[in-house]
Amino acid sequence: MYLKTLTIRGFKSFASKTTFEFEPGVTSVIGPNGSGKSNVVDALAWVMGEQGAKNLRGGKMEDVIFAGTTGRAPLGRAQVELTIDNSDGTLPIDFSEVTISRTLFRSGGSEYHISGEPARLLDIQELLSDSGLGREMHVIVGQGQLDRILQATPEERRGFIEEAAGILKHRRRKERSERK
Ligand code: ATP
Ligand code: MG
Repeated sequence: MYLKTLTIRGFKSFASKTTFEFEPGVTSVIGPNGSGKSNVVDALAWVMGEQGAKNLRGGKMEDVIFAGTTGRAPLGRAQVELTIDNSDGTLPIDFSEVTISRTLFRSGGSEYHISGEPARLLDIQELLSDSGLGREMHVIVGQGQLDRILQATPEERRGFIEEAAGILKHRRRKERSERK
């Protein structure tokens, strides 16, 4: 399984339809400051179901919709489409290729699709769970975090690993119950 294409339109700085094609293995996105590199990563997290505006570096979810620039009017919707190669059958679906998409309208509504069929957020989360993708599964190391990881104390580093492994919330819950 690998990410095959990412198509973005109306999401953050990508006003016009923009398609990224990935190959298996490592992909690098290179560009000047402010050119939209992190926005590509935000689009990936968003289409896989990210619900936290802060994790997308915004104040509210609507901030992901193209807000306009001088000479280009704001748009009414953001749409991101991700095609995943499933020829090894990692995803529990009978297709060698799966496309998930998410649309958010400025008027408020939002839509999800799996291979063109209307779906719920829950359907996308279930499709991606057990695949290493999806909610709290994939790990995105944000800008500036790399330095924090390198300079962290052993305890802090353990925290990062626990967070990535998804066990931090269980430890916090345990600590909370022990305090009582
Ligand atoms: P750096 O190298 O500094 O990390 P970057 O390539 O990661 O830069 P991004 O943070 O992805 O850059 O993009 C920032 C740009 O995206 C800014 O110019 C910002 O105005 C623009 N942007 C963010 N949200 C929107 C939006 N909703 N509408 C229009 N433009 C947006
Ligand atoms: Mg960046």
